[in-house]
Amino acid sequence: MKIAVIKETNPGEQRVALIPDLVARLVKQGLEIWVEAGAGEKSFWSNEAYTQAGAEIITDTERLWGEPDVVLKVAPPNPAEAGKLRSGATLISCLTPLANEQLMSQLARQSVTSLAMELIPRSTRAQSMDALSSQASIAGYKAVLLAAAALPKYFPMLTTAAGTIAPAKVFVIGAGVAGLQAIATARRLGAIVEAFDIRPAVREEVQSLGAKFIEVPLTEDTVGENGYAKEVSQSAQELTQQTIAQHVRSADVVITTAQVPGKKAPLLVTAEMVSQMRPGSVIVDLAAEQGGNCAYTEAGKSIDRHQVMVIGTINLPASVPVHASQLYAKNISTLLQYLIKDGVLNLDFADDIVSSTCVTHEGKICHDRVRNFVESTSQPSVVA
Ligand code: NAD
Repeated sequence: MKIAVIKETNPGEQRVALIPDLVARLVKQGLEIWVEAGAGEKSFWSNEAYTQAGAEIITDTERLWGEPDVVLKVAPPNPAEAGKLRSGATLISCLTPLANEQLMSQLARQSVTSLAMELIPRSTRAQSMDALSSQASIAGYKAVLLAAAALPKYFPMLTTAAGTIAPAKVFVIGAGVAGLQAIATARRLGAIVEAFDIRPAVREEVQSLGAKFIEVPLTEDTVGENGYAKEVSQSAQELTQQTIAQHVRSADVVITTAQVPGKKAPLLVTAEMVSQMRPGSVIVDLAAEQGGNCAYTEAGKSIDRHQVMVIGTINLPASVPVHASQLYAKNISTLLQYLIKDGVLNLDFADDIVSSTCVTHEGKICHDRVRNFVESTSQPSVVA
């Protein structure tokens, strides 16, 4: 079986889908690995390292996309790239399937089998394939480093001959994978940390990291399918805003990570809250691409409002490309190995890892949620 590793082309994308160590393991198992020339360059793996691991370096992109049985990527392909895939080939990549109806339709039309890394079930069995978690953890870590670099203060408490420095106060909103790593990183840097999440189940995890959990007395059910947060009512959102306002006001740094799968991110930090923060404070909004948790967030930009820096940098995992690639490569190669039986790709749709992850197969969108999303966004045909 021939597997291709593509060089990423999205601006700012520095990760690569497979690293040489894992190439060597796959080659040992009898797979033929093609790597696009320069694919590992931005994450510091040379063509030579891939060659030594047993891969073949390919410069002809038509061959690279068009011949292999399986194509591996980090970011979704653009229409021109996807157009080079042959019918019957398999694409494994992040695909943003619930926000990318055109790509989903194109892959189905081309009879490409595609598996979206974002849809790997969040189960113990699939933990080693869970790219959302491996990358979110990096984003949470890097968000704190960005905040620490932008904050005109120390993070830790310091007792010096010139006086005592009080520790920075960090407030983390959304204590999922990214939020928990942000709490841990801020604690390691010596900050005092508070955190809030609408899923009360995370209270103990927050406390075990040495942070204080902020309670919001919500009466409605906040946990939906697969343990993810649900979109809450307007009144619950207002109560949340009222309760967290004083914690935002007293924080030096606010890190927001709150998301609800398939929905716009909830607005939690209002313009008024920002205006009441101390000058020099910093907000890092990890939900920037989903509309932002802060009223002032602009995706991809850092902006100053009321002397508060609002950082909406996107794709933070790409800014830690060595370890982000290492972890993503482990996730994707584990999935690949899991799917290969007797040297061929075997998609057993009775297996929840396959049925949850596979979005297009044999000319159709085979994933219910993705199909419903694509149908709901496609234009109704005009009847004469
Ligand atoms: P996510 O990125 O979808 O959201 C981040 C956090 O924002 C979540 O904790 C969510 O509860 C919170 N949030 C949503 N709306 C909010 C609001 N209005 N106010 C405050 N917080 C809000 O979450 P994630 O990090 O991908 O984790 C999602 C779920 O998956 C969690 O239940 C997590 O425990 C679970 N998970 C399980 C596994 C596993 O079992 N292998 C691995 C990873 C994650």
